[in-house]
Amino acid sequence: MADNDFDFDLFVIGTGPGGEGAAMQARKGGLRVGIAERYRQIGGGCTHWGTIPSKALRYTITSTMNVMKNPVFREMGIHTSPTMEQLRRGTAEIIAKQVTMRQSFYDRNSVPIYFGHARFVDDHTVTIENGETVRSKAFVISTGTRPYRPPEVDFDHPRIFDSDTILDLAEKPTSITIYGAGVIGTEYASMYRNIGVKVNLVNTRGKLLEFLDDEIVDALSYHLRDQGVVIRHNETFDRIEGQDDGVVLHLQSGKQIKSDVFLWANGRTGNTDDLGLDAIGLVPNKRGQLDVDDQFQTAKKHIYAVGDVIGYPSLASAAYTQGRAAGMHVLGRKDGNLRVKDLPTGIYTSPEISSVGQTERELTERRVPYEVGQSQFKSLARAQIMGTTVGMLKILFHRETLKILGVHCFGANASEIVHIGQAVMDSEDLTLEYFVETTFNYPTMAEAYRVAALNGYNRLF
Ligand SMILES: Cc1cc2nc3c(=O)[nH]c(=O)nc-3n(C[C@H](O)[C@H](O)[C@H](O)COP(=O)(O)OP(=O)(O)OC[C@H]3O[C@@H](n4cnc5c(N)ncnc54)[C@H](O)[C@@H]3O)c2cc1C
Repeated sequence: MADNDFDFDLFVIGTGPGGEGAAMQARKGGLRVGIAERYRQIGGGCTHWGTIPSKALRYTITSTMNVMKNPVFREMGIHTSPTMEQLRRGTAEIIAKQVTMRQSFYDRNSVPIYFGHARFVDDHTVTIENGETVRSKAFVISTGTRPYRPPEVDFDHPRIFDSDTILDLAEKPTSITIYGAGVIGTEYASMYRNIGVKVNLVNTRGKLLEFLDDEIVDALSYHLRDQGVVIRHNETFDRIEGQDDGVVLHLQSGKQIKSDVFLWANGRTGNTDDLGLDAIGLVPNKRGQLDVDDQFQTAKKHIYAVGDVIGYPSLASAAYTQGRAAGMHVLGRKDGNLRVKDLPTGIYTSPEISSVGQTERELTERRVPYEVGQSQFKSLARAQIMGTTVGMLKILFHRETLKILGVHCFGANASEIVHIGQAVMDSEDLTLEYFVETTFNYPTMAEAYRVAALNGYNRLF
């Protein structure tokens, strides 16, 4: 078919980070690009229900609580407790700023946005709910996910929430039970504990966040418990009973936990069920996710899928890079030098966690001769000054080549700190010696790299 048989070279469905990355990359490469969005504003779940609102709320909670704990304020007799409404106030402003900024990308680059639910009717045609039809040579599906809602749980009950609806919680609860101890569950556990709510965190597995380095997981478990979070592992719900004055979680083990409110944070479903996939012969898996190859192509080579709708790692950061990679592939380039594997993880618990590269467990299983260098934040002048002494940086490196193999960090600003190690790890030329030989500003948290590198270096014989 000739180009003028199509309205677009690329049509993207969903304006989250995955869709935006794909649309902008393809447009900058000179393609005719359009995008559909069923929500009334662009930005995706990332901007409206996921990353941005949760991180904005977390920041407000942490900074407010730090002020409240400050001995100077205590001495002045200031003892107040902010309301949920006050804590949330800043979030709406940040979302609005994000939407305005992201909208300007589409406007400046002349990418038309079709507001309405998009559905495939054939291999090259999509209809939009508002009645419009578009034809495109290629597509990117970046429709994201939504919280999985088991039918037996009554999400209409005013005390039962999922990770989308919890954002509208009007009053600060006295207690909360969080079912599901993945990234979202543990982040919310930390957040609610920080504002003084009693938190029960129920984990369906044997350990928290098993994909992380064991020592980091142990540290997280210790600090959550130390802050007062009650964690229960290896539990499965039997039923969830909403009452007038609370919610009772009945566990298959026979235990019962009653709390003021209940947050379901166990699993997400891909937004593929009403996308007209049957019209084009694409079949999602039982979680509603689509399979893709290394270039993010589905079984239909002209239809790409990126972001949460393809599953792991389900991070905004990854979705954006994947979208750009798909956009480049549509342009006829492979994914260039985009690093779509070995992505960093940032988990905004208290303490914050971040890691990149391999864990000790993986290196041991692969029989890689590695060594460890550690730096405790409590020994860093900057951490002492800031009062953020909980934390550790751990560098894993090859004991012969000194190449960095993994960087694992917990503590204040871990998700920023990890990127220094990532840059050195990804470099062809640099090794652990870079940290041993380099002068770091003093006092900084970055100094942790020199301390950890020397600690590891001195173990070699
Ligand atoms: C509570 C929470 C906290 C999180 N925190 C972080 C974090 O700190 N860091 C991080 O990296 N990630 C975080 N994430 C994950 C992150 O939000 C997602 O990885 C990211 O949003 C995925 O981007 P996406 O483009 O794939 O999809 P989304 O951002 O979900 O966007 C999908 C868009 O597609 C639209 N859409 C769906 N179907 C259709 C259709 N048929 N027609 C038209 N439009 C459609 C939706 O309305 C939506 O706007 C968090 C998630 C949650 C829930």
